[in-house]
Amino acid sequence: MSYVDEVLDRVKAKNASEPEFLQAVEEVLDSLRPVIDANEETYRREAILERLTEPDRQFKFRVPWVDDKGQVQVNTGYRIQFNNSIGPYKGGLRLHPSVNTGIIKFLGFEQIFKNSLTGLPIGGGKGGADFDPKGKSDREVMAFCQSFMTELCKYIGADVDVPAGDIGTGAREIGYMFGQYKKIKSVYEGVLTGKGLTYGGSLARTEATGYGLLYITQELMKCHGESMEGKTVVISGAGNVAIYATQKAQQMGAKVVTCSDSTGWIYDPEGIDVELLKEVKEVKRARLTEYAAARKSAEYHEGRGVWSVKCDIALPCATQNELLIDDAKALVANGCKAVCEGANMPTTIDATKYFQENGVWFIGGKAANAGGVATSALEMTQNSERLSWTFEEVDSKLQQIMVNIYHNIDDAAKRYGQEGNYVMGANIAGFEKVANAMIAQGVV
Ligand code: NDP
Repeated sequence: MSYVDEVLDRVKAKNASEPEFLQAVEEVLDSLRPVIDANEETYRREAILERLTEPDRQFKFRVPWVDDKGQVQVNTGYRIQFNNSIGPYKGGLRLHPSVNTGIIKFLGFEQIFKNSLTGLPIGGGKGGADFDPKGKSDREVMAFCQSFMTELCKYIGADVDVPAGDIGTGAREIGYMFGQYKKIKSVYEGVLTGKGLTYGGSLARTEATGYGLLYITQELMKCHGESMEGKTVVISGAGNVAIYATQKAQQMGAKVVTCSDSTGWIYDPEGIDVELLKEVKEVKRARLTEYAAARKSAEYHEGRGVWSVKCDIALPCATQNELLIDDAKALVANGCKAVCEGANMPTTIDATKYFQENGVWFIGGKAANAGGVATSALEMTQNSERLSWTFEEVDSKLQQIMVNIYHNIDDAAKRYGQEGNYVMGANIAGFEKVANAMIAQGVV
């Protein structure tokens, strides 16, 4: 049995109750086969795959807080420190009722390779809680964030582990958490990224994941002799990534005709009105029905349906496993040429394979949404320098990073005779750097 298969069997037996983690490991290890097979003796002796799939450590803790009625509520908090071979642990905090050990573990595992791909010195981590900020008052969100940080602060630090935002964790939540960290530790340091601009945040961090997604998509199109100009784009989600992906796509001359949230989706043939979407989602924190009510050209539909719309480019930007095999078939039948993932693992493995087999250019989230964490790393650099760069400075570095990522993953795929397989290219390019660092640092 090959080394990859042996490790896959072991990981499956050990983590049977964590399907998302198993999905992520299977996808990564499967695509690493050419590299592993070529260096099997070394990697086996060093137990590289066993060490990579076993986190350095995981924390799970109680988060008690008091709601507006005076009732005590209890949530579960998580932080996983997966691998710090190339830098301090780095990865977001997800606040969503679906959060559990397996979800945090899959996200932390993916983060190792994504962070490596950015070319910046950051290791892989992730965290969060099964808390739902939706419908909570600001005071309730603050109470939760303070309690969460009271425990989390024991495990993080500017040179140790630097969390950031993710689903449900935006500037408001990061602000409350940063305040509590500072209060308990009596230290002012860049322990979190995604901070407000008046207290250490970086310009362009808010836009970074969505913008970065479009920079890599544009490079992909360019290298295939195409441009973004005049293309029809479908986007899922209506959160941070989706909003700024929509904005940048429109700036590039494309027309974005959809967005969605967890209850329904919008088809707007005249193109999504980003300012209105921001008002509905970022200011009012309302449902998409409000968008439809304010805009004549928009149709609102309950449930899912974004992928049934004819398009040239599809950008899933909501959540994991939101693009299934039937969606992939519909997109291919409708002539979609490129799919780039803004969200983490939005496309199932069979849907990904379907795209690849049918000539769709497919870039997975590890590469395509790395702009967010890359800009977080730029925020860390600015905090260490005690300086702030201009929007243009950060944005141009982000652009360069995304273009470099595209060429790195393209080259890695070509080196192993898999031209155009960007999933494999991303996993290989991310893996090689981490594996080399692990071997150089000995058995730790
Ligand atoms: P937000 O919380 O800002 O937005 C998430 C969006 O997805 C919302 O519109 C939400 O709808 C929708 N959504 C969430 N869960 C579901 C679900 N189960 N079914 C359908 N829709 C759903 O998160 P972000 O935009 O920050 O993150 C989106 C994705 O991008 C995630 O996978 C995240 O891990 C990934 N990502 C984010 C980065 C960042 O910098 N923010 C960086 C890299 C990756 P509703 O409002 O109804 O819940």
